[in-house]
Amino acid sequence: MEVVQVLHMNGGVGEASYANNSLVQKKVISMTKPIREEAITKLYSTSFPTKLVIADLGCSSGPNTMLVVSEFIEIVSNICKKQGNQSPEFQVFFNDLPGNDFNTIFRSLPRVQEKLRKQMGGGGGPCFFTGVPGSFYGRLFPSKSVNIFHSSYSLQWLSQVPEGIESNKGNIYMASTSPPCVLKAYYQQFQTDFSVFLKCRSEELVAGGRMVLTFLGRRSDDPSSKECCYIWELLAMALNEMASEGIIEEKKVDSFNIPQYTPSPSEIKCEVMKEGSFGIDRIEVTEVNWNAYSDEFNGGDALQLQLQDGGYNVAQCMRAVAEPLLVSHFGEAIIDEVFNKYSKIVADRMAKEKTEFVNVTISLAKTG
Ligand code: SAH
Repeated sequence: MEVVQVLHMNGGVGEASYANNSLVQKKVISMTKPIREEAITKLYSTSFPTKLVIADLGCSSGPNTMLVVSEFIEIVSNICKKQGNQSPEFQVFFNDLPGNDFNTIFRSLPRVQEKLRKQMGGGGGPCFFTGVPGSFYGRLFPSKSVNIFHSSYSLQWLSQVPEGIESNKGNIYMASTSPPCVLKAYYQQFQTDFSVFLKCRSEELVAGGRMVLTFLGRRSDDPSSKECCYIWELLAMALNEMASEGIIEEKKVDSFNIPQYTPSPSEIKCEVMKEGSFGIDRIEVTEVNWNAYSDEFNGGDALQLQLQDGGYNVAQCMRAVAEPLLVSHFGEAIIDEVFNKYSKIVADRMAKEKTEFVNVTISLAKTG
């Protein structure tokens, strides 16, 4: 499987689209806003770029990237107003893999621009938007041309499924039953990929440029810990169930592995230190419930309903993320059934235990 060619979130604006099933990711973006504010404030305390270049890496195709970008523009404009300076011109780059549905972003631009104009009351600088198809595990921009890189929930994706993990049978990701060599191979792939990422970005950033990166990650030192692996383990259960029913071949499940690594804060720090181009301003760990609607209800019948819907919501969220990968390996025909089963399994687990994603955000400044 060529990750660069296969991986993308479900496009469009339909029922199974990422645009309509990314509320969890949106919550995470809202939670990390203070870290972006701090980064921009620091950037403007030492420099005053008249042209500000911002890139959202792994932007996908929903409203989330627009939220990030509008927020950046708003924060910068407010800082400039306070300093009594004119707002800069904004150049905004949307980056994702070539299979991403960039058109959905482009179509929403007139609406977003109109909203921004109203918000700024004519005080914001002009904004120019551009799509950049390509892998962030390679160069995407000319050297010293970007002021701020942002990325949320994208850098846990690896450039490829690690090699040498044929023994990870019955699992589709790292799991408590994965052999140690599988865990090692996943970690090594993360190290290689993230160090390439850092090197490329350090070349592309201007002096004093900044990055705010949020990973789907984990707190624990154990890479097979439940906090990061459980969501995929439950999907493996649905697939294994279908294999035992003879709907899919067992060896097909055995050879399927998710190209993802959910790092701990210390693993991220370690790569940043090794690469050497960045100083760490801040690193923060937060949690978000699997079910993005979770805190809008409380107790009784509402709770029961929430759990049923919760299973569906989480399954839809994971479907928007993993469907293209599953289709490329198993074919289209099994997908509805997989997510039907998955939704029931997830609902059952959510009723019995606390189910949360762990987010690791790091704020970096280029030092060299
Ligand atoms: N930032 C958005 C989308 C996150 S989904 C949000 O927070 O809602 C993760 C995105 O990362 C997907 O669209 C996926 O295609 C993209 N991605 C994964 N690996 C990538 C790579 N190597 N280069 C660029 N984008 C990548």
